[in-house]
Amino acid sequence: MVPPRLISPGPSDEDAAADQRLRPQRFEDFPGQDAVKEQLLIQLQAARARGEALDHVLLYGPPGLGKTSLAHIVAHEMGVSLRETSGPALERQGDLIGLLSSLKEHDIFFIDEVHRLNPVLEEVLYPAMEDFAVDVLVGQGPGARSLRVPLPQVTIIGATTRFGALTAPLRARFGSTLRLDYYDVDALCLILRRSARVLKVPADEGGIEEIARRARGTPRVANRLLRRVRDYAQVKGAGAIDVATAMAALDMLGVDATGLDEVDRELLRTLIHKFDGRPVGRDTLAAAMSEAPETLEDVYEPYLLQQGFLELTPRGRKPTPRAYRHLGEQPPTSPNQPSLF
Ligand code: ADP
Repeated sequence: MVPPRLISPGPSDEDAAADQRLRPQRFEDFPGQDAVKEQLLIQLQAARARGEALDHVLLYGPPGLGKTSLAHIVAHEMGVSLRETSGPALERQGDLIGLLSSLKEHDIFFIDEVHRLNPVLEEVLYPAMEDFAVDVLVGQGPGARSLRVPLPQVTIIGATTRFGALTAPLRARFGSTLRLDYYDVDALCLILRRSARVLKVPADEGGIEEIARRARGTPRVANRLLRRVRDYAQVKGAGAIDVATAMAALDMLGVDATGLDEVDRELLRTLIHKFDGRPVGRDTLAAAMSEAPETLEDVYEPYLLQQGFLELTPRGRKPTPRAYRHLGEQPPTSPNQPSLF
């Protein structure tokens, strides 16, 4: 069992309370993701003008980027309640129907990890999303018949980290599909400044920026690093976060200047040394790292790919020259590279 990573984008137990406290309730407190926000705002205004429920929305992208937060903001802006569940938490047809019928008109039903919804329950969702109704089987044996029961007109907001794992019929039932991307350092600085205010942590610009740069483009990671740096500042310094404290704390925690941790570096070292920098298949690399292939793909690789440390080729993933340089190694010269002379 691998210990939880400080820079893991998924929620940890320790995050739960802080996530709750720091979760923005309004678009103004949600920097970044401008294209997504703009689309949502247009949809919201149109729905409000028509007096209808918002069209169903699918949010996808890596964990920790604000999918749940956006669902809360939308509910807040629409002035409706939000009911939260997740694909794996929903087990029985009756539970899902019960939940859906307990909602009020225009409420939001947020389903996290919607790609993990059991296929039988997916069938329940289709008419619920399309016609605001469910088909219930009444009676038994040959006399059984299907009865259509109306539901309140609610909005389903689905969130997923794996768009490709969603079935085509489910995907098609969402009126809009919005992709969240990693944040740039400026947006993370805005988020961290607000978090520092909420948590009453004194932090200057340099300190905030240093944390933002190492936060892997992920607000959840940024907020977690802020809390850890605050602890360090309290114990080792005068309590305030400046650039020197942030650097010292993050170095001590093993998060380097580009946000990579020991596990990332180990992955790159494995590719460079064990596999000689040649392309490697997902399962082979996962086995070499003693990790589940899905974890490798969903948690380890996205940031390394986005940052240009890894390259996906038709024959597998391979380290880029940047990966070699980051580890202080000489990138191999490609035999196909044209000579300068
Ligand atoms: P996801 O559902 O995509 O995993 P969350 O919405 O749970 O992500 O976000 C994790 C935490 O990161 C939240 O508690 C929130 O405080 C913070 N967060 C995410 N995106 C933003 C943002 N754009 N602005 C401010 N805080 C954010």
